[in-house]
Amino acid sequence: MDRAPTPKRARTGADERSEETSGAPLGIAAPSSAANKPSAPSKASVQQLMRPYYGRLFPHAEFARWLAYGNDSKHLQADAGFFQRREFCFTMDGDIFIRYQSFKDAEELQRAIQLKVPAKIDIGPVYNVDPQRRAAFQGLGTERAFQPMERELVFDIDLTDYDDVRTCGREGHMCAACWPLMAVAVQVLDAGLRDDFGFEHILWVFSGRRGIHCWVCDARARQLTDEQRAAVAAYFSVYKGQEGGLARLALSQVSASNHPALDRAYDALHAAWVEHILPAQRPLDSDEGCEAVLAYLRGDEVAARLRARWSRGGARSGALSIQRWEDLEAEIDKILEGKAADGKARRAALARARKEIVFAHAYPRLDVEVSKKRNHLLKAPFCVHPKTGKVCVPLDPAAVWDFNPEEVATVSQLLAELEAADASIPKPANGGGPGWERTALAGAVETFRACFLDALAAADRQALGAKARENAAAPTLAW
Ligand SMILES: [Zn+2]
Repeated sequence: MDRAPTPKRARTGADERSEETSGAPLGIAAPSSAANKPSAPSKASVQQLMRPYYGRLFPHAEFARWLAYGNDSKHLQADAGFFQRREFCFTMDGDIFIRYQSFKDAEELQRAIQLKVPAKIDIGPVYNVDPQRRAAFQGLGTERAFQPMERELVFDIDLTDYDDVRTCGREGHMCAACWPLMAVAVQVLDAGLRDDFGFEHILWVFSGRRGIHCWVCDARARQLTDEQRAAVAAYFSVYKGQEGGLARLALSQVSASNHPALDRAYDALHAAWVEHILPAQRPLDSDEGCEAVLAYLRGDEVAARLRARWSRGGARSGALSIQRWEDLEAEIDKILEGKAADGKARRAALARARKEIVFAHAYPRLDVEVSKKRNHLLKAPFCVHPKTGKVCVPLDPAAVWDFNPEEVATVSQLLAELEAADASIPKPANGGGPGWERTALAGAVETFRACFLDALAAADRQALGAKARENAAAPTLAW
């Protein structure tokens, strides 16, 4: 058994370890209702529910079908050893990480999950050899050494990285008012991955607490080297932290126009800012929020004018931030429409400032370290977050604005639903279908299939067929 440091990043592990384990355990038959929000369950009580969760609710078949990429078929070109070379890491109760787990096939993986009942499952890369046999390959030349061969291109976005622009809470906090920041991140990255890189098989997942994960699963993405991954991550790293009260942004400093991908992102960010983020976060309701925004005008007299007007207060209605933003845009537009030849530099600076404000508040803030290396582990979809008890459910990027993290089912709610379903409609003699079909998890599995798995499986079949045709056409050495 390997005991490795926290596979993702230290602060996640530290955060989960510091969680309280007190509190009344939630019974399996706890009443279930999304409207009737239970307080956060204790970690110990969530772990108690993991055995029945893996036993009857976890969608083992769909999960393994994804990770086999068609190699679980009887197809002649299927690589029967592919699944066995994938690393899984189980986090056991007590924060013991068992790395380099590998399994022959879907059945063996399911048996291990149900037997060991991990608190968390992380997915690692596919290696050149079975990771359990890695010791035999250590110290060999680079050609034969134990090394990752492929891995999904992954992205991790965490709301804790937005604490300077969130007004509703900090750190582990997550609510419906935070969600627009995640929704626009999905929108911007999804468009970039599809339009600029041509990727098609993209899985978005709510991480169960305060963030989102993205898995890019096209064969081309899985085969990227670490250097190429770093380049893709850099491409999306427009937000580069804070300096002197302003965000450091990879935007043009010489003009208001940018790379077409950034112009496309700006359109999405601006719409999200006006329609969702301003009403939900109300950043311009407070003096500090106003100053943080006006700082981007860098002393232009527009800032002084707005500050004077805003200091007279305003109706503290839900619309105050929206009114103030419209005010700011109108003031900037007035200058931009001016024709004075000597005002050119000022006009460019103000146009740029408006973009900076929107990018600073809304552009996706990536944890790039997660994306850069093939051997970085990432929590599997359909895991249960040990702190919240919420299932890491797949997201439909086209419906991401309708998603509410507060309404995601917890493991105790799902098990109560299953119990109620069993009581009202007795299971057929053959056991019936998987338990998730009788609970709210059915919607999440349906999203997984419809938004991701069905198209991926079709592409996997096509790839095996193309490989067969290639091999048939290749000249043979046999006479
Ligand atoms: Zn919030």
